[in-house]
Amino acid sequence: MISFNLPGRYHGDLGLKLEHSKTLLAQLQLAIIQHQIEEISDASLSCPCCGRTMPIHDYRTRVIDTLFGRFPLRVPRRTCSCRRGKGGSLSPLAQVFRDRVTPELKLLQAELGARHSFREAARILETFLPCARQHNTTVRNRLSKVAKVIADETPPVCESQKSHPLTVFIDGAHVRCRPEYQKRHLDVVVGKIETHDMCRRFGLSLQAAASPVSQLRRDLDALGWDERRPITVISDGDAALPNLIRNSACGKVRHILDWWHISMRVKHVENAIHGLLQTKNFPGEPVTFSRPAESLRWNLWHGKVQTAGTHLQWLMDDCAQLSKREPTVRDQAQRALSRCQFLHSYLANNMGSLTNYGWRYRRGLPISTSRAEGCVDDIGNARMGKRRRMRWSPEGAHNVAVARAAALDGRLSVSGATIVA
Ligand SMILES: [Zn+2]
Repeated sequence: MISFNLPGRYHGDLGLKLEHSKTLLAQLQLAIIQHQIEEISDASLSCPCCGRTMPIHDYRTRVIDTLFGRFPLRVPRRTCSCRRGKGGSLSPLAQVFRDRVTPELKLLQAELGARHSFREAARILETFLPCARQHNTTVRNRLSKVAKVIADETPPVCESQKSHPLTVFIDGAHVRCRPEYQKRHLDVVVGKIETHDMCRRFGLSLQAAASPVSQLRRDLDALGWDERRPITVISDGDAALPNLIRNSACGKVRHILDWWHISMRVKHVENAIHGLLQTKNFPGEPVTFSRPAESLRWNLWHGKVQTAGTHLQWLMDDCAQLSKREPTVRDQAQRALSRCQFLHSYLANNMGSLTNYGWRYRRGLPISTSRAEGCVDDIGNARMGKRRRMRWSPEGAHNVAVARAAALDGRLSVSGATIVA
């Protein structure tokens, strides 16, 4: 029984305290569950085979884990004379106690485990709820069960307007690997799928996912994708990532190289040429360097890839000439040359994925993976980043990535849950 401390003088003791509320909630929960068990048991009086009333055969003790406590309960089993020799008694509550945990607790453990370390998640649960003693391993196991359900779920068919295209932003996050796997890092694929009015995040580990392609296919389906709808994938130079979407969508995918990655490399060229022009007693004609370097960004932005390539070639030829001169000029020229070569090969490798970025930008279409990089931070780094000093197995990283993407989308919250964990 709760004894309330009624103070003669107010010293901050007004109202219900957390400890009292926990005791009250646990008692209330037990009373409600016991009442529900009686109701379910009474509702399943008649035998499914012969329709006669079944007497209670015996009682079994079943433990159920809920948000408001873990309770051992006496659960009745019934039996019928027609079942003699057919294998025992019937328990109408078997389904309820199958997992020994309520879906609400399981989803909350997954949500907190996806947002915080497992130990921290266990501590938060214990602080605010009268639930049973929480262990980090329990939180981890429940999260992995929920992640499995999410990865295998068939999303509800979403009726979306067919004309709107789908854009997929995709990137990779690096997660520290546990020592027994003989490598330093694990790659976790993260990203976001967007339509005009909806978005869905995803995360998976290629080593641990049962089928990355079908998991991504389900994510596309969840946003109402069908074969006629065009998909645009925006990523950096890694060909494996757009190919993943290409396989999920069986072909019709347009890949666009992220503008930010191009822009960064152009900046390096601009800086190197600027540095070269600043050298003492610069022997060349400055305008032959400054003009192509300045037009490079404009040409690439407007999709004039051939012109940009020609200008880059001029720059490389001129820098190669200067790299045979006196040491001060030579060092700068070699630096500029290597930057130009780096950009040149980057563009050559991704020739088919370049586009008129200016045109897309003016129409409000996405041109960069900034949103995928947001996912790298949100899904990967915030929970599994290097600063967290945690090491992961491929399965562990996969489960957290799947659950965290769902948690950030609000798909794990109990009120808006679309999954039945
Ligand atoms: Zn019967």
